[in-house]
Amino acid sequence: MDIQNILIIIAAITNSLLGGFVYFRNPKNKLNQWFSLFVVSLVSWCVAMFLFRNANAQQDAIFWVRILYEVALLIPPTLMYFVFTLPEGQINVNKYVRFFMWLPTIILAVMAARNGYIVSGVKIGSGQEKEILWGAYYLVYNIYFLLYFSVLFFILFKKYWSASGINKVQIRFILWGTFIPTILANFSNLTLPSFNIFYFNWLGQVMTIPMVVFIVYAILKHHLMNVKVIATEIFGALISLILLINALFSESVNAVVLNFSLFGAVSFFSILLIRGVLKEVRTREELTALTEQLKKANEDLQRLDKAKSEFISIASHQLRTPLSIIKGFVSMLTEGTYGSLPNQAKEILEKINASNERLSHLIDDLLDISRIEGGKMQFKWESISLTELVSSVADELKTTADKKRLELKWDPQFYDKMIVRADSEKLRQVIMNLIDNAIKYTHEGYVEIKLAKSAGNKTLFSVKDTGIGMDGEELAMIFGKFVRGKKVPKLWTEGIGLGLYVAKKLIEEHKGKVWAESEGEGKGSTFFVELPIY
Ligand code: ADP
Repeated sequence: MDIQNILIIIAAITNSLLGGFVYFRNPKNKLNQWFSLFVVSLVSWCVAMFLFRNANAQQDAIFWVRILYEVALLIPPTLMYFVFTLPEGQINVNKYVRFFMWLPTIILAVMAARNGYIVSGVKIGSGQEKEILWGAYYLVYNIYFLLYFSVLFFILFKKYWSASGINKVQIRFILWGTFIPTILANFSNLTLPSFNIFYFNWLGQVMTIPMVVFIVYAILKHHLMNVKVIATEIFGALISLILLINALFSESVNAVVLNFSLFGAVSFFSILLIRGVLKEVRTREELTALTEQLKKANEDLQRLDKAKSEFISIASHQLRTPLSIIKGFVSMLTEGTYGSLPNQAKEILEKINASNERLSHLIDDLLDISRIEGGKMQFKWESISLTELVSSVADELKTTADKKRLELKWDPQFYDKMIVRADSEKLRQVIMNLIDNAIKYTHEGYVEIKLAKSAGNKTLFSVKDTGIGMDGEELAMIFGKFVRGKKVPKLWTEGIGLGLYVAKKLIEEHKGKVWAESEGEGKGSTFFVELPIY
């Protein structure tokens, strides 16, 4: 036996073991079934080559070369079927196509069985590869393989492009494992022999090893973890078997007792070990599946959130235009552009105007949110005096406080300018919102605004009220999106819980901090904004 034949036999054995392993893991799976049929044709091809190379008599050589060229015909269709089953083990190919694809195989099989069609004889030389004398249709035989493999790889590449995730990895491995070995095998076992070069006529058989190994790896990659269980099982069974044989052949009674006890103990612990591994593998598989689900759910949520933000943005823009038109006409009416109006009508117009303002604030908040969340908020940074800004907001809100008979305590004389770097409009919006809330959520007493310098060269703005206050749970939540106090929605129907959320985001952009304190329900609250001094 020469080295080539040893390699061929190694190929046959390795392939049989791997093919059998894949098949018996799940004999019902179509993918496993067709893969093992493909392996059967490869192994038969190897065995036929082995026997052909080993044959000494002319008669035997002729017999085995026929078998060799017959079984080779089965390789492309079985591999094609295997490719059909990828990646999920289902065949989605029309049954007529599946029927007709066997036709060339059958015709060539009939031809190969007769002398002079594909092979017409064998010339046994001394010490070299045997020379095969070709029949009239050997070219057709070559074309069969060429066409079959071209279509097959075309399908495989197509499947590769459209696959994703683990399936893509699987097909990639199969491509790696089959493409180059197939080309080489075709070259060494079909093309070269056409030119009567038989020197490498055994290479194709050896090439089947990487092919099968890659495919098996690809198939197992789906359930790589199971390999661990199988390895543990084999290991446990092997040790137990050795110990059992050892015990059976013990010579003294003492040895029998000792060896059987050892066998029992090892078997027991092997079973425990296997169970442990099995459990671990299952848990990990479940975990992987759960992670996968979670990932998907998360992606869905993100998509939903984005769609929602886009909707808000579009809707808000559309709502804004009619509101400014209403505002324009209302002010023209109030100013008497269309003639003077009775007082009652003026009052009504004022109410329309107030509602209009409220609505437009709400829309501004919504727009702010969609800008903040989409990362599209633009800031106009400048150095401004916080003291002046607070003064102007306090002036503006004074009438609102007066209407509720609340004292608005603010004395700008106490403070210097307190220069901060900010977007004046946005900072104004935050201050306005905080003071406005203080007035809104206070029935009686006062609202007190203060400025101070805090540690680390910072300014501290605070607005304290004697209003409804908040409990700990509310304090923890109010800066969230669309969050309102527990009792608030019933008493104050306007407002949707966005002001503080927007304020927090804006202050964060200013590298500052905003927070609230309260001693409890009914005990008033204080809101703070801390900003770095410029
Ligand atoms: P809105 O005022 O529209 O409800 P905000 O985001 O401005 O939305 O406020 C969120 C919630 O925080 C309010 O619903 C209220 O429960 C609470 N809150 C805000 N300011 C005060 C305050 N000065 N006193 C008590 N609760 C307040």
